[in-house]
Amino acid sequence: MNIIDGKAISLEIKNEVRDRIEQDKLDVTLAVILVGSDPASQVYVRNKKLACEYCNIKSLSYELPEETTQEELLELIDRLNKDESVSGILCQLPLPKTIDEDVIIQAIAPEKDVDGFSRASAGALMTGSEGFVPCTPAGIIELIKRSGIEIEGKECVVIGRSNIVGKPMAMLLLKENGTVTVTHSKTKNLKEICSRADILVVAIGKPKFITAEYVKEGAVVIDVGIHRLDPEKNGGKKLCGDVDYEDVAPHTSYITPVPGGVGPMTIAMLMYNTLKAKL
Ligand code: NAD
Repeated sequence: MNIIDGKAISLEIKNEVRDRIEQDKLDVTLAVILVGSDPASQVYVRNKKLACEYCNIKSLSYELPEETTQEELLELIDRLNKDESVSGILCQLPLPKTIDEDVIIQAIAPEKDVDGFSRASAGALMTGSEGFVPCTPAGIIELIKRSGIEIEGKECVVIGRSNIVGKPMAMLLLKENGTVTVTHSKTKNLKEICSRADILVVAIGKPKFITAEYVKEGAVVIDVGIHRLDPEKNGGKKLCGDVDYEDVAPHTSYITPVPGGVGPMTIAMLMYNTLKAKL
């Protein structure tokens, strides 16, 4: 069993982005918008700004109060869309309930949509044209490829069909010539389908849901889930994934840990997308 080192691979990607920016003397800027004071979002935004700093990407920070209206947010996005010095725009989700997330996502100019959530980006991915790929599934493809794992011809099963993980993940595996099955909450015989997978990507949002019974001997298992644990009740562990790591890992050929697997890749691919937005 090999543990896929997301920390090391994400650093590799951030270094590639930084080197390219230095070599070509590029002026790359990411506008980061945060509305409200959700603690988890604050941590994500802080980490994104730190990654920008590491890569020599300038980050512009817009920390707006909870009461910000949809119109105010749209005005800001419009301004950033028109500002030629801004390469990419990221609006941290979730937004307060008074704001329609879809309206905001679609307002970001396609050429600055570094999160890859807009319909323009989703359509580009679906049709195989040039566009921004959502960072988490893009990072998973990098983890797989850079670990030397072949996707072509493999049985790939994705659990979850969200717009930000499951669906784009399926499209990317298909693009790599995998034979892809997408499963979801209404799927019958989940265990049976999963146990056919050579590559199993789990984005179900339920802690430790996937046990060894779901996994074929020697499969590659990618765990997208992130859940907080009470360290006192969990032997000092603060996080777990959607996969029961201790139970599953011995049966795999490769597995991503939580933390240190998929998580760091999301931010690395955001840096990659921001550089791409400049080029
Ligand atoms: P989501 O809640 O939008 O989607 C979950 C999916 O799982 C749904 O499509 C649903 O149909 C499916 N599902 C639910 N119960 C099921 C069941 N019993 N059997 C089969 N399928 C079932 O979640 P998401 O946004 O796709 O995220 C999934 C997980 O990944 C979450 O834990 C989230 O925190 C994590 N996540 C991590 C990163 C990262 O950077 N590592 C990024 C995004 C999401």
